[in-house]
Amino acid sequence: MPIRPEMRALYPPDWKLRSRLVRFVRAGNRCEWCDAINRHPHPITGSIVVLTVAHLDHDPTNSTADNLAALCQRCHNRYDAPMRARGRRERAGQLTLFHKQPAMLHEHG
Ligand SMILES: [Zn+2]
Repeated sequence: MPIRPEMRALYPPDWKLRSRLVRFVRAGNRCEWCDAINRHPHPITGSIVVLTVAHLDHDPTNSTADNLAALCQRCHNRYDAPMRARGRRERAGQLTLFHKQPAMLHEHG
């Protein structure tokens, strides 16, 4: 999955090389978790596999080999889903707080 522009500065300068080494040399162009082959139909979803590199601790500044895994989009999405759901809940909480403040001020005003 492409790196979001606001996240790019967190990645090491040689990220492309690290990503390629993990995907093509270490993982042999396959998902390291489900063995799906890059650019072939996924055995479960049938969609074309695009091998990506996941940070297992979700920290892009920690790009050592043991923190990286070459994953198909299915495995990567499943691994990141709980973190993304937490992010959505936190953003929703901030929105709710923001919208409640004017009403509370109004009640006391
Ligand atoms: Zn996979």
